[in-house]
Amino acid sequence: MRTPIAVGHLDADCFYVSAERVRDSFLERKPVGVLGNQGACVIAKSYEMKNAGVKTGEPIWEARVKCPDGIYIKRDFRWYEVLSRCMFDIVRDFSTRVEYYSIDEFFFVAQPARGQSLQDLAEAMRDKIMTNLGVPVTVGIARTRTLAKLISDSAKPFGALAVLDRDAETELLAERPVTEITGIAGRRAKRLLPWNIETCLDLARADRRLVRELLTASGEALWWELNGEAVTPIHPQRPAHKALSRGGSLGESTVDPIMLYAWLIRNLERLIEELEFHEVLAGRLTVWVAYRNGQAGVGQLNPTIPTDRFDLLLDVARPCLRRAWVPRVAASKMQIIAEHLVPKGQAQLGLFDKPEAAERAVAVARLKRESNLRHGRFALRSAGTLPLVSIYQDTANEFDICDIRGKSCF
Ligand SMILES: [Mg+2]
Repeated sequence: MRTPIAVGHLDADCFYVSAERVRDSFLERKPVGVLGNQGACVIAKSYEMKNAGVKTGEPIWEARVKCPDGIYIKRDFRWYEVLSRCMFDIVRDFSTRVEYYSIDEFFFVAQPARGQSLQDLAEAMRDKIMTNLGVPVTVGIARTRTLAKLISDSAKPFGALAVLDRDAETELLAERPVTEITGIAGRRAKRLLPWNIETCLDLARADRRLVRELLTASGEALWWELNGEAVTPIHPQRPAHKALSRGGSLGESTVDPIMLYAWLIRNLERLIEELEFHEVLAGRLTVWVAYRNGQAGVGQLNPTIPTDRFDLLLDVARPCLRRAWVPRVAASKMQIIAEHLVPKGQAQLGLFDKPEAAERAVAVARLKRESNLRHGRFALRSAGTLPLVSIYQDTANEFDICDIRGKSCF
């Protein structure tokens, strides 16, 4: 009998905490919280800390009230990436088609060895990662990736479960609320409520055309997947980026336009690193700023020609920020997004580009890139970033999760 095609989902259990435990066994079995950028919020927690009631995203001062014995550690994405790449290599020992989905999640085509069941395969992968790396993971195997993810979520922590039997599948779908499906959160789940679609099984049994009407084509794809029809392929190579963006929390919120401008420059310099890495030029730039009172501002402009030059992009980013700026309201987040990406080789020189100016800008960009490669990221950077002394002094800010390349999700 031919083995049916099955898809696996491997997901590390509280990955950042597990990664810290790999290099410091003192943290084993203790309540551990990993803190984000400016050390203010808990971005990952151990099961011990979760049991104390601490939630992801909670500020440390609230977490410490709930969990005074907790050990709080600042995140280190460089180390997490090392472990992430090692996990990826192990998953590839078991499958020739693996998608690097996120820092600690992989989808793969399940290829059991001769005489090995899919359940054996799930256990073998989980155990090999534990033995070789010391990272606990959970593996789910099913007919489609949506089902595989639901199964691995249900088998956490340190689980391994292959479910291909229809009755077992139905039972599992009936137990899980529809919000556990990636891609169905608050607003979309609300649209399903009037139709009494509350569990994953309700959605799978609903009329396909109704699901399409309520949740568009992406919702219909989920419907097929829940019914065992694999319509979302595994991507061993990340599809080309449609957009690149850099930004995030500003740490302490600010009303100071000089600080906002400094963040604009920092995010633009990081965006340019990314454009250079992917060898693309930006044909459109958007600056988005979120404010503490819930407001948001957006500015969007196209440079005259697609470019990755700092001076030209700054000429566009500046008026964008002006449009996105709400005076006297504290800003808390910023994103700069590059779209209409054009491969570098295909770009045309601008009609009005002065060759000397272009040469100088290109030489400055090269100098910046080469000195930062030799002396450390951001060693040479624009003076506009000077107000952000504390950000550049803290080495934890040198490398962020978005700097880990090749993931298919953020
Ligand atoms: Mg995980």
